[in-house]
Amino acid sequence: MGAVLLCDGTAGEPEPVPWCDTCSRFYNPNSVAPDGTCVKCGNLIAEPPSDDDERPQRVPWHFWLMLVALVVYLGWRLVQGIQWLLH
Ligand SMILES: [Zn+2]
Repeated sequence: MGAVLLCDGTAGEPEPVPWCDTCSRFYNPNSVAPDGTCVKCGNLIAEPPSDDDERPQRVPWHFWLMLVALVVYLGWRLVQGIQWLLH
């Protein structure tokens, strides 16, 4: 795969810039053929569009476990604090 990550200095995620080894040049992602090949030599230089990017990012289960543990812990500390204030 000939994609290279370049940061263009603007805010946000760096976009992969297609690089063709055969032609030794970078391509604007918009000037690459729709199937991700070089328009000059037909080399595959970019990721062909796929449906994977459309899928929402799945949150790992241990994230929710951590979140529940944090809420329980903070709630317990809150109860302890209230009890301390009442005594
Ligand atoms: Zn090329």
